[in-house]
Amino acid sequence: MNIHEYQAKQLLRARGVPVPQGDAVTTLRDARRLVRELGGGVVIKAQVHAGGRGKGRVVSTAGRTAAMYKRLEADPEKVEGAVVGNRRGGVRLADGMEEALEEFRALSNHFLVTHQTGPGGAKISSVLIEQQTNIASEYYAAVLIDGSIGKPVVVASTEGGQSIEEVAAENPRAIIRQPVDPEEGFPAFRGRQLAKRLRLPSSAIRPAGQLFAGLYQTFVETDATLAEINPFVLTGDGGIIAVDAKLNIDDNADFRQPLDELRDLSQEEKMEIEAERAGIGSYIKLDGNIGCMVNGAGLAMATMDSIMLHGGEPANFLDIGTVNRVERVIAALRIIQKDPDVKAILINIFGGLARVDIVAEGVVEAVKKLRIKQPIVVRLNGSNVEEGRRILLESGISVESAEELGEASRLAVAAAR
Ligand code: GDP
Ligand code: MN
Repeated sequence: MNIHEYQAKQLLRARGVPVPQGDAVTTLRDARRLVRELGGGVVIKAQVHAGGRGKGRVVSTAGRTAAMYKRLEADPEKVEGAVVGNRRGGVRLADGMEEALEEFRALSNHFLVTHQTGPGGAKISSVLIEQQTNIASEYYAAVLIDGSIGKPVVVASTEGGQSIEEVAAENPRAIIRQPVDPEEGFPAFRGRQLAKRLRLPSSAIRPAGQLFAGLYQTFVETDATLAEINPFVLTGDGGIIAVDAKLNIDDNADFRQPLDELRDLSQEEKMEIEAERAGIGSYIKLDGNIGCMVNGAGLAMATMDSIMLHGGEPANFLDIGTVNRVERVIAALRIIQKDPDVKAILINIFGGLARVDIVAEGVVEAVKKLRIKQPIVVRLNGSNVEEGRRILLESGISVESAEELGEASRLAVAAAR
């Protein structure tokens, strides 16, 4: 699960990582109070679950930003569009109250489109206002799990501020990777050694060591899958401070992390939330136009592959799981049907513990109750398949049937066109 920069900074601050003074606000009144408190120059930052904000663009409404997103993906420098404010991104510097409030208004409750948000952009649900940092140079720090060695690894680079993927592609030698013995952890002296390898000036070695140790501690204590500071900076007077922060927390740690408190539903796909509420474990919205309803994660992936092999694009990943309840099938079809991108629906069920006849009953009820307009292709196999086919046949609803997945995919791709 993704959390906001301001939340990540609170968690880091509590573990000794130096971060700028500031807070997230949602109202003009709180913004004014905070700017007065901070005094001097401030930085105003859109809080969205996406990176690349500095190079993003702010728009006043969601949607109709697909073209802008395409250009952003291709070349962030050249984007144009319905830009609010001064044709600038989601991170803005302001000197004094008047400028700060102007930028707050330009960001608050608007939408930010970055190369990471997808074409709809992300709602700016709150705005982080912080004391401005006087930056001399930018560095990169992160902790993540290296699956190949089964251990955490601390990653650091002198090329901070830009995307680490780009650095990895263009200048891989600028990236230091330091595996961690989880028994030992990553104490400050290890952090100081790393700071020296980055050739930080002597005044910055101790605070940078503290930053690495605090970052590692945060990674462990919050059950993060990724803890990233990009950039942490050397300030004009030789100090160290984390200017940006990103924390991804493992959903499986739900039982011991306050995930509900940290979660921001406004940053999540609406239909994914609805699927979760309906008790459907896995629903992920995708860019294509063929809605898929499948049981089993492996079969769902094979179905997506097969659709693409036949020249189509899946609109979603959906694993309805082992269901023997008609209601679950209807709930799943309701979610697929609501997606305006869906032009055809492919139902691929292999009944093992799940019973094909119950799924068929659900499909029939859903088509009647929800008045599903999109063409439906079904491929059923496994437990009680004969009964399932009979139910579909005798229901009088209009579906195309296929014996094999390849044939079903071909029919669905044709129907979506
Ligand atoms: P991102 O674009 O979403 O990664 O947002 P960041 O918080 O990393 O900000 C992007 C860039 O803005 C940083 O790499 C800095 O160069 C710049 N920036 C952010 N905060 C400050 C600040 O307080 N002072 C100055 N001078 N630049 C800043
Ligand atoms: Mn950043």
